Amino acid sequence: MEENCVFCKLIAGEMPVEKLFEDEEIMAFNDINPQAPTHFLVIPKQHIAKPGEIQDGDEALVGKLVHRATRLAHKLGLGNGYRMVINHGDDGGQTVFHLHVHVLGGRRMLWPPG
Ligand code: 5GP
Ligand code: ZN
Repeated sequence: MEENCVFCKLIAGEMPVEKLFEDEEIMAFNDINPQAPTHFLVIPKQHIAKPGEIQDGDEALVGKLVHRATRLAHKLGLGNGYRMVINHGDDGGQTVFHLHVHVLGGRRMLWPPG
């Protein structure tokens, strides 16, 4: 747990969150400021600040995030299409520095995203 990390606080149960999935390694929950009718995040419980800090040995964990993201997307009825996004750093649009996979769907997604 990292001090001052909002997602570590969600994991620790210190702030309310609409959980969609949880196991010993990962958690999924609805985004507080949804950019599409369905918008949820999948995160590791381990504090990894950003994609560039993924280490050798984290491959299975990162694969698990993507796997769960797809499973939840289909469970939530997004089989017709959805977008998965991972932002790194300021220019990538990252605002919360705890690794997360966004899943957005329920409307036609634009490309390029801008
Ligand atoms: P980023 O811009 O870092 O890729 O995405 C961070 C996301 O986290 C944003 O979509 C933002 O709405 C979401 N977020 C920030 N704080 C909270 C929070 O306290 N709870 C939830 N559920 N989502 C949050
Ligand atoms: Zn964290």
